[in-house]
Amino acid sequence: MTFENLDLIAPLLKALKEEGYENPTPIQEKSIPHILANRDIFGAAQTGTGKTAAFALPILQLLSAQVQQGNRNIRSLILAPTRELAIQIGESIQAYGKHTGLRHTVIFGGVPQRSQVEAIRRGVDILVATPGRLIDLHNQRLLKLDRVQIFVLDEADRMLDMGFIHDVRRIIPLIPIQRQTLLFSATLPSEIKELMGKILKNPIHIEVTPVASTAERVGQSMYFVTRDQKRNLLHHVLTEQDINSVLVFTRTKHGADKVARELTKRGIPAEAIHGNKSQNSRQRTLGDFKSKKLRVLIATDIASRGIDVDQLSHVINFDLPDTPETYIHRIGRTGRAGAEGLALSFCSEDDVDMLKDIQRHLKSTIPVFKDHPFHITPPNSSPPAPPKTGGNRGSFGRGRQGGGGGNSPRSKPQGQNRPASQSRDTKRPSGQSFRD
Ligand code: AMP
Repeated sequence: MTFENLDLIAPLLKALKEEGYENPTPIQEKSIPHILANRDIFGAAQTGTGKTAAFALPILQLLSAQVQQGNRNIRSLILAPTRELAIQIGESIQAYGKHTGLRHTVIFGGVPQRSQVEAIRRGVDILVATPGRLIDLHNQRLLKLDRVQIFVLDEADRMLDMGFIHDVRRIIPLIPIQRQTLLFSATLPSEIKELMGKILKNPIHIEVTPVASTAERVGQSMYFVTRDQKRNLLHHVLTEQDINSVLVFTRTKHGADKVARELTKRGIPAEAIHGNKSQNSRQRTLGDFKSKKLRVLIATDIASRGIDVDQLSHVINFDLPDTPETYIHRIGRTGRAGAEGLALSFCSEDDVDMLKDIQRHLKSTIPVFKDHPFHITPPNSSPPAPPKTGGNRGSFGRGRQGGGGGNSPRSKPQGQNRPASQSRDTKRPSGQSFRD
């Protein structure tokens, strides 16, 4: 199943491509056709299943189909229990809807209302809101909900847990009875069942079991290293670890060539594929990689798009990518079809900000693997590393420091990077954290 099969319009397909989404998730596959057919939906789905896109994409499509004259009205209202979720939904709508010309804004409490009110006054098609602030602004007559056509109640059970269900009940009469309603809830307490009976008309029930996210399926580890030592570290890792098929990502084509040349020179045959290579040469290289004749393939993000290899055991981020989404996309190339995959990332001083972004996005910390000769301590690690007895910590700017700590450079990494489902160790990295 592809997004094209779901009959999504070109501006959405373009945005999805830019996001690196290749195929719809089960909830997207099941919900989108019904929502596009104007049906009410009850979705039993948790965050992490792709449920935001499952409702955001068809809403954007339905609203795009209407020609708007004069001022914009709020035609879709999305209620979320927390400001974090509301912001996340807003970000998704921004990403998926960027080529549609539709406008949205996000409102939530705990911050001054002025900029939120201004955004609404300028005109929005989609409003994402937490219940309290929505009622507040409505009471002040700063927004109107009488043109809402599509109403989404996201994480209804959390609304209940957080005591917002009364607010929700007060909001329902403010929106037209003639509307489409989409309700999502991971669990189904009796109050939610009752609410569903009142606000949904002949709904389609859609249930999906939570799938392990890419980040959970793929074991990840972070190697701190200076930029200059990355090539040595790569050689070390490829020599020391049991890696039978690896895709190495570099930021630039030039970098890809350089890495491939140097590895080959040092006895590890490697090839680079990128846009500057001829189609023939790329096909040949890919063929060799797929048939396992070639063990190490170096690629840039763009060149890697067409690479669909099963049983790729490892991905190495020689350079961290520019966006967290690209990171997820890259590491998702391993661990496919339930296979266990490992993703190793090299983080130098230039990559530290990106690492923070990635970890914020993952909502977890990537375990740091220190047992290699090029390990250094990066700046701004927060919270500070606990006291250590061993001594293999270098520092950026001071060049390479020994791989001490009593670790032989030839020692095999142990349990460093199994997927979270395999090893509890990976939950707590050995010392450093980059979350802020
Ligand atoms: P959600 O359940 O909506 O919070 O989505 C969980 C994560 O999955 C988000 O980071 C989305 O960007 C991502 N995502 C949603 N749909 C897809 C898809 N079809 N392909 C790849 N990633 C997706």
